[in-house]
Amino acid sequence: MIYLDNNATTKPTTRVVEAMLPYLTDCYFNASTSTAALTGADKPRREAAAAMAKLLNAEEPECFAFTSGATESNNWILSSLAKRNKAGRIVISAVEHVSIAEPAADLARAGFDLVEVQVDGQGSLRLDALAKALSDNTILVSVMGANHETGALQPIAAIGALVRERSPSALFHTDATQAVGKIPIDLQRGWQEVDLLSFSAHKFHGPKGIGGVYIRPGIQMEPMLRGGEQEAGMRAGTTNTSALAGLAAAADEVFHEVGMNSVAKLRDAFETDLVAVIPSTLIHSRNTNRLPNTSCFSIPGETGEDLAQELAGQGILIGTGSACSSGASHPPKTVLAIGVDHSIARGTLRVSLSVLTTAAELTQLVRCLKQLSMKGRITE
Ligand code: PMP
Repeated sequence: MIYLDNNATTKPTTRVVEAMLPYLTDCYFNASTSTAALTGADKPRREAAAAMAKLLNAEEPECFAFTSGATESNNWILSSLAKRNKAGRIVISAVEHVSIAEPAADLARAGFDLVEVQVDGQGSLRLDALAKALSDNTILVSVMGANHETGALQPIAAIGALVRERSPSALFHTDATQAVGKIPIDLQRGWQEVDLLSFSAHKFHGPKGIGGVYIRPGIQMEPMLRGGEQEAGMRAGTTNTSALAGLAAAADEVFHEVGMNSVAKLRDAFETDLVAVIPSTLIHSRNTNRLPNTSCFSIPGETGEDLAQELAGQGILIGTGSACSSGASHPPKTVLAIGVDHSIARGTLRVSLSVLTTAAELTQLVRCLKQLSMKGRITE
């Protein structure tokens, strides 16, 4: 199987699996009992917090609260906000993941003032529109670090500066689920205005079902799950020690990772080859800063879902946009937001690489797409 859908999820590395195993076998103890230090069950959480602090250059490991993943992190941030504020403006980008967009829409229905800021044709947030949206009563600004569909990066430093200038009392959240592990992130230089940051281990070769929120020192969050003292009383429930051990190993491996430059080279070469074979291909967000591993493109006259199914039948797994929305017949939201016509956006595919991807795998994908086009499966 050729796996080219790494924005949907990544393969846990051998080191990650090995790090998890002891906590599923011999060291299965509860991390919250008084004997946790003795049994070692308290170690995974401590190591996960330390590894995340190092990876993102956070002030201290205590800045992290762990959750089941970025969906939960994002939902928590909005529900905490709603508990702490009776009213106010929430500003999000028009291309946020559904785990921000849907709870934000719920808050709008509950009476909060929700403003969606548009992106330009490359998927970059319109800073002029953001400046207009920021008001005295803005309580939260949430803009993703990197887009899951196109890979477009948002100018987090510039957005942070604007938020501080125009809405000094607002919280600035970034959903960095797709950014962590793929681009350098420094919470004290460049991203120093970020108050809250969501992440998820399975997007950087860790296990599924574990992620968290970076919470800048001094920021108060409302508890999400009550009934225990785990996560400083904010998320009760028995600590998932094996998943945390996997997260710690994955975060630590990223820190030593230098492979993203070669990933970008493979991606760029793939795009050149693809356009040579199917010249009508429209590559999205190619002229802005984007993730090194992501190639999102539309083939006019095609349906992304059909092509992805054909390719899967030939042993190649690629995406059609957002895995969370697949099954739905509509084109990826981001591709529509950057102004691509609906009829073309239907033919969108997303190829997302990892450090495990090889040139031969991408050559095989181009070959298969070429064959499909020669069979008349793709109309040029
Ligand atoms: N935000 C973004 C940008 C994502 O790409 C995803 C995963 N598709 C999520 C949030 C949700 O992450 P999780 O799978 O950890 O719930």
